[in-house]
Amino acid sequence: MLIDLHTHSNASDGTDSPSELIDKAISKGLDVIALTDHDTVAGWDEAISALKSHESNSKMDLVLGSEVSCQGADGTSIHMLGLLFDPNYSPLISEFEKTRENRVTRMSRIISRLNEAGIEITIEEVNAQKRGDATLGRPHLADALVARGHVANREEAFNIFLHNGSKFYINHYSPSPEVAIRLIKEAGGVAVIAHPLASRSGRKIDLETLNQLIQAGLDGIEVDHRDHNEMERSELMRLAIEHNLVVTGSSDYHGTGKLNQLAEFTTHPEQWERLEAKAKARRVVSR
Ligand code: AMP
Ligand code: ZN
Ligand code: FE
Ligand code: FE
Repeated sequence: MLIDLHTHSNASDGTDSPSELIDKAISKGLDVIALTDHDTVAGWDEAISALKSHESNSKMDLVLGSEVSCQGADGTSIHMLGLLFDPNYSPLISEFEKTRENRVTRMSRIISRLNEAGIEITIEEVNAQKRGDATLGRPHLADALVARGHVANREEAFNIFLHNGSKFYINHYSPSPEVAIRLIKEAGGVAVIAHPLASRSGRKIDLETLNQLIQAGLDGIEVDHRDHNEMERSELMRLAIEHNLVVTGSSDYHGTGKLNQLAEFTTHPEQWERLEAKAKARRVVSR
């Protein structure tokens, strides 16, 4: 069983459309795929239609979700995967909108900083790199820097200009992870913290914060992810067992925007079964 519970499309900063993503997932023989674009549900409808109308007769289940940007008390960026929630629950959707709007202002501010340092790039060039309604993110700025010839690819753009520790880095509004967990669960979904100890990409949260999120009702931990080393995985596994949390593994696929390949890490069927049972309604889309 190949179960991949964290992927992106061009409804945020992935490079495949939701239909292309569904196509590739079916070709790869995935049994379950979750679409989890940053702070949006904009890709859901296209993914559902692509699954329903797919010409092959292979079976695949689609789990609809979102990777919710959050900010810890000390300002660290935390990503919360919300799966199987009701997309009509307005308090959650308004929170997404607020974050997406703030991402636009934040982008202008990052661009000003780059311009002040003599790196020429405009907001129009950045917007040209994304689908109209997509959640704006640094990867789109990276693509614009590539198009201008400032850097060779997204990776280089992040290494030189866009990483979290860069002098050009600016945060955007996002809810606390406790609020995100509460809203996801009020909407009937489940909350899984994404890559919590991703020291490889400088997004590490401390164990005290993680314990607070467990108290706040966290359902699962993404343990197997390319940004976690062996030590981080065993630490998270121990924590998950101690608190009876679901353990997931996933690719965090972004199309050609990152090295991550579909199903490079997967979730054990029993863990997926447990997670799905925690959702308030059966919202998995099957074909
Ligand atoms: P933002 O949401 O605007 O803060 O941008 C964060 C996103 O940038 C993450 O979701 C990653 O997918 C992407 N990202 C971070 N580091 C890299 C990298 N080195 N190469 C490509 N994409 C990256
Ligand atoms: Zn991303
Ligand atoms: Fe993430
Ligand atoms: Fe992600």
